[in-house]
Amino acid sequence: MYNSKSPNAEEFISDQEVLESLDYGVKNKDNREEIEKILAQAASMKGLNHRQVALLLKCDDPKVIERLYTIAEEIKLHIYGRRIVLFAPLYLSNYCVNGCRYCAYHNANCEMQRKQLSQEEIEKEVIALQDMGHKRLALETGEDPVNCPIEYVLESIKTIYGIKHKNGAIRRVNVNIAATTVENYRKLKEAGIGTYILFQETYHKPTYEYMHPKGPKHNYAYHTEAMDRAMEGGIDDVGIGALLGLYDHHYDMVAMMLHIKHLEDVHGVGPHTISVPRIRPAEGVDEVYPHAVSDEDFKKAVAILRCAVPYTGIIISTRESPELRAQVIRLGVSQVSGGSSTGIGGYADGSGEQREDTAQFEVNDHRTLDQVIGWLCESGYVPSFCTACYREGRTGDRFMSLAKAGQICNVCQPNALMTLKEYREDYASAQTAKYIDQVIEEEVKHITNEKVKTITLQNLDKIAAGERDFRF
Ligand code: SF4
Ligand code: SF4
Repeated sequence: MYNSKSPNAEEFISDQEVLESLDYGVKNKDNREEIEKILAQAASMKGLNHRQVALLLKCDDPKVIERLYTIAEEIKLHIYGRRIVLFAPLYLSNYCVNGCRYCAYHNANCEMQRKQLSQEEIEKEVIALQDMGHKRLALETGEDPVNCPIEYVLESIKTIYGIKHKNGAIRRVNVNIAATTVENYRKLKEAGIGTYILFQETYHKPTYEYMHPKGPKHNYAYHTEAMDRAMEGGIDDVGIGALLGLYDHHYDMVAMMLHIKHLEDVHGVGPHTISVPRIRPAEGVDEVYPHAVSDEDFKKAVAILRCAVPYTGIIISTRESPELRAQVIRLGVSQVSGGSSTGIGGYADGSGEQREDTAQFEVNDHRTLDQVIGWLCESGYVPSFCTACYREGRTGDRFMSLAKAGQICNVCQPNALMTLKEYREDYASAQTAKYIDQVIEEEVKHITNEKVKTITLQNLDKIAAGERDFRF
């Protein structure tokens, strides 16, 4: 029985409600009146509910899809401007007791070289990441209470925040670790994490249980209810995501909408971010994926998400090719990783080179961070290393109320330009620096508040003179 306020996973992600919604989508996919109503609602940036999402997913009329893309682009531009926030994953440990069928870190993969970074090795990784220009990290670990206990994660966060190399600093550490207890979430909150990220992988319980045949992750309810425990532990910025292609992505998209509604109804705030990883080949994984998502379906899914939850950041990783990343950035993605290594210790020993022997999945965008920044600038975007909200206490419902009131962009734009200027001064190649200068000159004009514009211009001069870390 569907109940968005229930604490039980199988009631707030009701299989019956998802199936009925998809059925509603099939029956109404040619209902012009309903489609017009949904597109108008999307265009007014009021978001969409799970049934409306189901209908758009099922609708295959090219004209409707074209309009959907136009609306998604308009929402993206209105709320996020041309800004794209950059981050890097940092893999700390690939010990894992779980048996996830799609992941190279699965417990039975004897080919995988297991490694956990020592605090000294983390320091080297972080210095390498700082020297690339990164300010925002997503920590990644496998699940292993013995080889990778919560104390290790907490110590690593402390180490990372403490490293100041040249002008570098990691200013926001997001954490992607296995579902855990309220007590451990409280400890993560006290350690000063930004967002707690946990992908659901798939909301379809039988597929979930098949894909996670052993280990603690096998428990669907414990995993699906993790964000409730995180919020109970005081973490108000949570990041969700489904690994598209494990099961029918229509099912997972509708179920994800139910998850969002549940978090809003129970905790008063939905997810801070949504990640849209797609299933990728991985070493030691032979699984065949009948539900693999095509590029066209993937783009449509991103555009629907942008319309459904206009104020939630959408994240894409280097799993995707540069070409596809360019297309989905246009349609709604607001955060991208750059210069990523998905192996353990891949930054310090190779400036972000992929370490195949310890990598979780194959990367499809091998460009350096500088190349990604140059490409974004050249394509008319504004790369941002901003971490201001978390540091100013603008999290959870405080952040969402500012975002929904349309006020957050008043600080995003100047913060983006000031952090981009820092990047330009400290890390950019000569060619990228030229692009950045053009972007900053043009984008300063788009700061509408004259007082904010004046302060921003003053701060840009101060950054050129060597000062750092300004924010609104
Ligand atoms: Fe372990 Fe996570 Fe990989 Fe599963 S997805 S095997 S839990 S690292
Ligand atoms: Fe993100 Fe806040 Fe910075 Fe805007 S001001 S980019 S919402 S951290």
